[in-house]
Amino acid sequence: RSLPVEHSEDSAPRAVPGACFCRVLPTPLRNPRLVAMSLPALALLGLEAAELEEREEAEAALYFSGNRLLPGSEPAAHCYCGHQFGSFAGQLGDGAAMYLGEVLGPRGGRWEMQLKGAGLTPFSRQADGRKVLRSSIREFLCSEAMFHLGIPTTRAGTCVTSDSEVVRDIFYDGNPKKEKCTVVLRIASTFLRFGSFEIFKPTDEYTGRKGPSVNRNDIRIQMLDYVIGTFYPEIQEAYSDNNIQRNAAFFKEITKRTARLVAEWQCVGFCHGVLNTDNMSIVGLTIDYGPFGFMDRYDPEHICNGSDNTGRYAYNKQPEICKWNLGKLAEALVPELPLEISELILEEEYDAEFEKHYLQKMRKKLGLTRLELEEDNKLVSELLETMHLTGGDFTNIFYLLSSFSVDFDPSRLEDFLEKLASQCASMEELKVAFKPQMDPRQLSMMLMLAQSNPQLFALIGTKANINKELERIEQFTKLQQLTAADLLSRNKRHWTEWLEKYKVRLQKEIEGISDVDAWNTDRVKVMNSNNPKYILRNYIAQNAIEAAENGDFSEVRNVLKLLENPFQETESSTEVKGDMEEEEATAAAAA
Ligand code: AMP
Ligand code: MG
Ligand code: MG
Repeated sequence: RSLPVEHSEDSAPRAVPGACFCRVLPTPLRNPRLVAMSLPALALLGLEAAELEEREEAEAALYFSGNRLLPGSEPAAHCYCGHQFGSFAGQLGDGAAMYLGEVLGPRGGRWEMQLKGAGLTPFSRQADGRKVLRSSIREFLCSEAMFHLGIPTTRAGTCVTSDSEVVRDIFYDGNPKKEKCTVVLRIASTFLRFGSFEIFKPTDEYTGRKGPSVNRNDIRIQMLDYVIGTFYPEIQEAYSDNNIQRNAAFFKEITKRTARLVAEWQCVGFCHGVLNTDNMSIVGLTIDYGPFGFMDRYDPEHICNGSDNTGRYAYNKQPEICKWNLGKLAEALVPELPLEISELILEEEYDAEFEKHYLQKMRKKLGLTRLELEEDNKLVSELLETMHLTGGDFTNIFYLLSSFSVDFDPSRLEDFLEKLASQCASMEELKVAFKPQMDPRQLSMMLMLAQSNPQLFALIGTKANINKELERIEQFTKLQQLTAADLLSRNKRHWTEWLEKYKVRLQKEIEGISDVDAWNTDRVKVMNSNNPKYILRNYIAQNAIEAAENGDFSEVRNVLKLLENPFQETESSTEVKGDMEEEEATAAAAA
């Protein structure tokens, strides 16, 4: 039996002492319409393609807008805390998302469903509990894109928009811009976060706001038992008679999962953008797609979040930030897990697991499948440095490398270099990338300080900044003396240098192999299933959003289809590509 929904007073923002979940009801939307659905995600819940295609889209829109509740659904909003941009932010909670209940999937798994953007909850604070078409399409597409890239993530089943409107940008075009309220159905084993444990910190640690004050410890222990028992059953079983050991094993596991997750992000050039502790999944998923971005041109300091002024969540900071976040989780697990134990685990496991996973993945991206050499780390960082210097497109350069090989015909090299160079930045783009950022007087003062008082200088920790600035100045000065033709030959020279190193490494790989062709076929296969051809670039999402804002949802659906097969070499991707010519496909990826 399904229930029509009417807004309930229970959903009004308010203080709810002693609770970490609160019953709520979605607020109905006007005229809900299906923008797109992900059949593989809905299949997790037992909603099969045949059945879905038979039904009216309007029916799906009714349920997945929250206007109608699925049978057995008991919506609730979760109260959690978080460290936002490095400071404890007190109580946050599901301000726009609602837990609907759980489904035992017909193919296994136990799935929580959540509606994001379904209206006010007790934790909406000053905001309206709504999401707009823009942010919803981005979350919907990227959740599914990440899944198909093989990266742990929450899933998205549907995206439903409506005629209800909210204003986000009051100065758009000189006037407030009304945007359509939109709801995404999210699916995951759990949406619990690091912040779900931080909510139990003693009240006096809150910045002004009070958290649950009743039986705080009891609830925290229940939450921990629930998390480990439900999502880490092997750990629960192995250590059922020793809680400290059990909790330590759990912390070790989430530490490793998080390290591997970030390594995966780094290897596809994914920047999360808001790595606050309330956006860190307790089971190691990518969660909360906001201002995320896939890097186009490789820039280690790439910042995708416009309000991240200090670059706290820049691409190259993600590994250390997630480690810092794990440290905050560790603090929130005291006294169930003493800090001496968790800190040791973090120090022993995190960096090692990250580096191991990162290097393994990078070896696959380079087709180095037989040997694991110490020097590989250097080869990878030199590749990235070459990309940075030439402004190479992260995705497309990796993708191109599979057509280079150990016995590469020298007469084709020039051609190949042209291709690589075509994926590099123009002079204008490079000048922007390497533009010096410090005031020259500030720089010379810092250099003087560095010479006269090295200790003080080290204490303020500006050495890295200065070195970066000097590097920028050097590159910028060189660029200013180049013509466009010089730039091309400079880029080719950089790439030739790196390709020579790559070739030397590949030669080691084939030592003792008789059938080099067969080896290369395998190598290309591995590379093509680890270097995506299609990623959700910002402009691709933007095009789909603009079409959808004009009432045309076909672009969202097409992009979803493409992202379901991001790798060239899988069989199903041939179907999607259809008879698209090789050249066209490359152009599409390069665009
Ligand atoms: P985020 O930066 O997306 O992780 O969000 C931080 C906090 O703001 C979370 O507690 C969200 O639930 C809340 N929040 C974000 N958007 C909204 C909204 N439109 N209405 C109410 N709360 C929101
Ligand atoms: Mg969030
Ligand atoms: Mg968010």
